[in-house]
Amino acid sequence: TPSVVLTDIVHRYGAHRAVNGVSLAVESREILCVVGPSGCGKSTLLRLISGLETLQQGTIAVGGRVLAAPGQSLPPERRPVGMMFQDFALFPHMTVSGNIAFGQTDRPRAERQKRVAALLESMALTRYADAYPHTLSGGQQQRVALARALARDPQVLLLDEPFSALDEQLRRSVRDEVVRLIRATGIATIVVTHDPEEAMEIGSRVAVMDGGQLVQTDTPLALYRNP
Ligand code: ADP
Ligand code: ADP
Repeated sequence: TPSVVLTDIVHRYGAHRAVNGVSLAVESREILCVVGPSGCGKSTLLRLISGLETLQQGTIAVGGRVLAAPGQSLPPERRPVGMMFQDFALFPHMTVSGNIAFGQTDRPRAERQKRVAALLESMALTRYADAYPHTLSGGQQQRVALARALARDPQVLLLDEPFSALDEQLRRSVRDEVVRLIRATGIATIVVTHDPEEAMEIGSRVAVMDGGQLVQTDTPLALYRNP
């Protein structure tokens, strides 16, 4: 069964339909890239799934559970959703461990520490546990951001322009590394990007968005053949 199911979702800002009837299913082990021009509704789509924006029509379900429908909305902190943003949004006054621990849901202290240690290990960050974010490279900071998102044990990962802040040279290596780490988790993932080439390279499927709607969704290979 698909991890994430969006059914005919709509969001308006005033009279403007930023998301205008999107239906989509994303399975575990899939990385779906949403690509489209600035202003087409990509960020709003992610914000609806994370609960930072309120749905006005349609339903959002994750793992078979309805998170949002008109008049019904689980608060963001209770959604099984992990997010990563362009600017990493790490807390500058917290160590790497502190940043990762902050992402967690309620569980006993010993368990929390164990989980943070395991995430540090899997992200090759163990020796930076007590470092502050500004002392890390862009790639390392991005791994911290991913670890923090995973600390929530999410059923879906949402990445909004995750590689845009990195310089050209660093971007490809960090991107390959982050994609490898995400694939290893098998968590259903939606990546928003304005860069079609990036979408084709990292997506197992690519959804093309325009004017608030998905106009085509297919594998990268099928899109190359039939653009
Ligand atoms: P994208 O992420 O593809 O650039 P957005 O989801 O940010 O697109 O925006 C979609 C549309 O909604 C755009 O026309 C944008 O101007 C508008 N929009 C986004 N956020 C707001 C807001 N808070 N208030 C009013 N309009 C908004
Ligand atoms: P709070 O307002 O609870 O202190 P934030 O300002 O960091 O939290 O984030 C606002 C909301 O965005 C949170 O309720 C949370 O659901 C979501 N959020 C922030 N960071 C993440 C993340 N790394 N993974 C998943 N959701 C996040």
